[in-house]
Amino acid sequence: MIVYLGVGSNLGNRKNNIEEGIRKINRLKNTKVLKQSSFIQTDPEGGPGGQPKFLNAALKISTNLSALKLLKRLKKIEKELGRTKAIRNGPRTIDLDILLYGDRMIRSKELIVPHPRMFDRDFVIKPLAEII
Ligand code: ADP
Ligand code: MG
Repeated sequence: MIVYLGVGSNLGNRKNNIEEGIRKINRLKNTKVLKQSSFIQTDPEGGPGGQPKFLNAALKISTNLSALKLLKRLKKIEKELGRTKAIRNGPRTIDLDILLYGDRMIRSKELIVPHPRMFDRDFVIKPLAEII
């Protein structure tokens, strides 16, 4: 399955966090990172005020993992990279979102694909447009 992911970070060494995240994604079973967009820096949208700017990128990967399993693995990577606070739209060392999973439409409690907020977020669409 060809899958597009959105990656963002606005805490600590943002570029390192994203690159470490990419390395960890590459190490997932039957999963390869095929393409990586350039990084774009954006002001935080929503969430608490005064938080640092985000660095965002998009990834094209191939995987044999189911969408739900992939989501679980991505959440584990977020944890390993020190994402702790669960403030909505709040600061995070890394955010890994599934943007597109092949041409599937998924609507479950845990997972909605295509990602419901990707279309009104320039910081998702711009890097995605670069590699898709
Ligand atoms: P956001 O990415 O919107 O800033 P979070 O990363 O905290 O917020 O994610 C909140 C929840 O969104 C996750 O626990 C996850 O189960 C759910 N979710 C729903 N659809 C998706 C998706 N396409 N990609 C990633 N997470 C998703
Ligand atoms: Mg997320």
